[in-house]
Amino acid sequence: MGFEVKYELRGDSNIGSVDFDNVQFGRVFTDHMFIAEYDGQQWGDCRIVPYGPLPLSPATSALHYGQSIFEGMKAFKDEAGNPLLFRPYDNARRLNISARRMCMAEFPEDLFVEALERLVWVDRDWIPTKPGASLYLRPFMFATDDFLGVRPSTRYMFVAYCCPVVAYYSHPLKVKVEDKYSRAAPGGVGFTKCAGNYGAAMLPTKEAQDEGYDQVLWTDPVEHRFLEETGTTNCFLVRGNTLFTPALTDTLLPGITRDSVMKLAASFGLHVSEEPISIETLKAAVTDGSLKEMFITGTAATVITIKGFGHRGEYFDLEPQADHNLSARILKTMDAIRTRKESDPFGWVHPVPAR
Ligand SMILES: *Cc1c(COP(=O)(O)O)cnc(C)c1O
Repeated sequence: MGFEVKYELRGDSNIGSVDFDNVQFGRVFTDHMFIAEYDGQQWGDCRIVPYGPLPLSPATSALHYGQSIFEGMKAFKDEAGNPLLFRPYDNARRLNISARRMCMAEFPEDLFVEALERLVWVDRDWIPTKPGASLYLRPFMFATDDFLGVRPSTRYMFVAYCCPVVAYYSHPLKVKVEDKYSRAAPGGVGFTKCAGNYGAAMLPTKEAQDEGYDQVLWTDPVEHRFLEETGTTNCFLVRGNTLFTPALTDTLLPGITRDSVMKLAASFGLHVSEEPISIETLKAAVTDGSLKEMFITGTAATVITIKGFGHRGEYFDLEPQADHNLSARILKTMDAIRTRKESDPFGWVHPVPAR
């Protein structure tokens, strides 16, 4: 592969102190992390080291000007205990789509996958095997120049670390259709996983939560009329034998789970349609009873049903017509494929080689 990876392993594991049945999402970290650095010319200094703080200059450019991007993915085990990744090359490609838009160095896709393979192999004992649980992987990259000027950094750091997780949301969600704030703008960075998108979403999300909702259902930034996505997940509706999801634009994050869900639904014989979905269409589908299901999808959240939504002070309860057959079947099939309990006709599962 051409990249040397050095290992500095912990002598003592932290794993004994973890209550795997009650981990809080993102609060427990495994023993190790992977680091690589870009010196302005090339990536190198690849290493697996004990998980811990990074020394940073106060002038670190990512902290001031936001050149910081991330990915989210999960590792599983099959029934024999072999560690598995799910569609890692898709995350590698998407990281570089984000990198190009943010004017950052790209990270070699083979090195991305190798880094995660090595890290997951070293910390494989941390992969939970209970249904719904997994090892969440957080690769990210940020600008490391210590320079006050506003210009693209010349140096970057890529880091990956892991958290054992159980299900993220365990109940159906109430969402607020946002008609004041926007998550992203045409020509902007909504299609990237850049850190600033999440900072900008915190106030609208907090306001929605203060009103009793779980999440924001974002609408287009021009008319606040067309559905976009939900918090940090993509959204779907089912009417008749058709699965609908908003068509991708530069204000939408192209979820890998979104893509998996569309392919699975098509394999179940559903018609899959990517098109603009207006709030009027959604409301009409509730009123005339044709809306069978509404759900959201993402790596961290998996597949979660929506039990109702609010729009301009009016609440639409989806429970009377709720039929969660498709989302339940998709989640079950996806879990079975990811843990190799079912065959993988799409070639999504990536076994982690022993190192
Ligand atoms: C990560 C993310 C998603 C879901 O993407 P997956 O690849 O399915 O995890 C959807 N929307 C936003 C804004 C995201 O950041």
